[in-house]
Amino acid sequence: MKSTAIAWRSKRTVKLERRTEQLRKSREELERARDAAEQASIAKSEFLANMSHEIRTPMNGVIVAELLEGTELSEQQRRYVSIILHSADTLMDLINDILDFSKIEAGRLELEAIPFVLRDTLGDTLQTLAKRAADKGLELACHIPPEVPDHLVGDPTRLRQIIVNLVGNAIKFTENGEVVVDVTLEGQKDDGTRLQFQVRDTGIGIPEPQQERIFEAFAQADTSTTRQYGGTGLGLAIAAQLAEKMGGRMQLESTPGAGSVFTFAADFGLAPEEKKARPLREAELRGRQALVVDDNATNRQILEEIVVNWGMIPIVAPDGVAALNALERASGAPPDLALLDLMMPGMSGFELAACMRLRPGLKEMRIVMMSSAGRPSDEALLRRLDVSRLLVKPVKQSDLLNAITDALGVSMREDEGEGHASAAHLRTSPGLTVLLAEDGAVNRQVAVDLLTKRGHRVVAVGNGQEAIEAVERGNYDLVLMDVHMPVMDGLAATAAIRALAQSGKARVPIVALTASATAADRERCLAAGMDGYVTKPFRAAELFRVVEQYDPMRVPLPEEQVTAVLTQPAAADASVLDWERALRNLDRNEALLRELAAMFLIEYPKLIAALDAAYASGDAAELRRAAHTLKGSADVVGADGVVTAAQRLADLGREGNLAPVPEARRALKAELDRLEPALQRAMLDAE
Ligand code: ADP
Repeated sequence: MKSTAIAWRSKRTVKLERRTEQLRKSREELERARDAAEQASIAKSEFLANMSHEIRTPMNGVIVAELLEGTELSEQQRRYVSIILHSADTLMDLINDILDFSKIEAGRLELEAIPFVLRDTLGDTLQTLAKRAADKGLELACHIPPEVPDHLVGDPTRLRQIIVNLVGNAIKFTENGEVVVDVTLEGQKDDGTRLQFQVRDTGIGIPEPQQERIFEAFAQADTSTTRQYGGTGLGLAIAAQLAEKMGGRMQLESTPGAGSVFTFAADFGLAPEEKKARPLREAELRGRQALVVDDNATNRQILEEIVVNWGMIPIVAPDGVAALNALERASGAPPDLALLDLMMPGMSGFELAACMRLRPGLKEMRIVMMSSAGRPSDEALLRRLDVSRLLVKPVKQSDLLNAITDALGVSMREDEGEGHASAAHLRTSPGLTVLLAEDGAVNRQVAVDLLTKRGHRVVAVGNGQEAIEAVERGNYDLVLMDVHMPVMDGLAATAAIRALAQSGKARVPIVALTASATAADRERCLAAGMDGYVTKPFRAAELFRVVEQYDPMRVPLPEEQVTAVLTQPAAADASVLDWERALRNLDRNEALLRELAAMFLIEYPKLIAALDAAYASGDAAELRRAAHTLKGSADVVGADGVVTAAQRLADLGREGNLAPVPEARRALKAELDRLEPALQRAMLDAE
């Protein structure tokens, strides 16, 4: 009996062991399969990234068609060229999408953290989409309530990309009604803010079963819509992943036939400007009345909120007749200002203005009109009706403020004067003398031809060594420097040119020409002493924008927006960086300070490494020496935060007290992290 039980148990044990062994084997197999799948996925993403990068290169050649456009062509040839260019644009968009997508998949997409102005960024972005909306008769509006901070730190390019995608889709899939971007404040801390972005439309909507799938790559709500609307189905996948990186999952609510609402949240830092109390030009508007007339309820609400925030007292009306009635009913003096929508059913903005001008009390009223993009404006009529300004919708708040203060003759403080085209700016430029260092024959030809036609003078060389020689010999306003070149690359050449500057030569701006523009690439360019970059293949407009911002005689065009340049408003946080003090110490030799700052950025990681090695080997004297050197260099460039943190480490070294070093080392790291962007900005602003 006993032996049977033992036999049974051992049989069971054997069975169990066999089973365990089987399980272990299958788990190993699963793990192997998973590893292989992960490897395959990484390989695929890398392959995609490389492929799209490689495809961009021959695109340089295709874009030569832009040069053809400027030559004498028959009508038929012109049509063909336009088809080539249009296809090139589409192909570039597609390649960029694939590149982004593969970067995200491979976990290689980095977000930037640079200061930007939210209202202007969104305003400019929507202006680029305004024509498309206007062509379909759609109202495009942007609502950012006053409590949402304006000076943020984050990645404006990627934010723009998400918004362009969502708003582009909303316009594409909406035939009547409106597309609205709504920003709300979700939460605010001392150093950061969380915003919610919502893009809503009154379009065809997305059926329930497709709503989940829509964020997957290559997914479209209805394959039949693709034929009608075009597109690849990559846009939303990218937008959703970017949103996820910025702070939250993208959500969708949609009712077929009624419209869609896409929502995402994003976290931003607050730029130092946000924390400072700014002198307000708006103060001069306080207490003045403004008449707001727009048939679109969303726009009315937005305009009302904006003028109320500036302290004005609004009288709001949905159409001309209601406006005239309201004016009649209002007691006291008539409003100083009217904000009129131009395209309104019934009485248009022009007709309303004409009626107002006929009334004795309203002759003096200042009128600012708002019209959709692409609508022809009637200059003569605007003059006759004494309209102060015609703004294109969706109106940017800063443009509206300028228009209103100009119309009312409100004085502007000097410190707010930038960005305003004064008469003195409106001179014509004799053009720049540009040195182009580029080894690729196609790109060289394109750049030379584009810039020459534009009235600049270009000298082209084929490598970094020749570039240095040219800069030594000649006088250039600007150097365009390819990064990868034979003999000597662009970074080494830039460093050498910067070294020339020290021996008395004037500092020439150097702009990188680069095929890949990751944050790391740009840092390398900056560290080498470059001032900005243009991504290849470059298009004429972008090249001109970047080049001509170095032209002091340039006529500033309001719609020009320098996208690919690193210039950002200075972060004036003196606890991090006191550039002004450093400048004073160097007899205001800005060129020298920039050199020293660039050197500091290159040198400090070595000192940190020395410091860490000293701590690891318990060498207090060496730790003190490294910290002391770091403090000295930081002091020269005005990096006050780093000076203090390094001093503490030096003190610990002197006392031979190594226990608090890790904590002091962390504090130093935090200071360096704060310093690096501030220093780079200061170097650019110094230009
Ligand atoms: P595509 O390049 O095809 O537009 P997206 O990823 O941007 O790719 O969009 C995927 C699909 O989602 C679209 O083809 C469309 O069917 C649907 N879609 C996106 N946005 C909207 C919207 N606002 N209204 C209706 N359908 C939409």
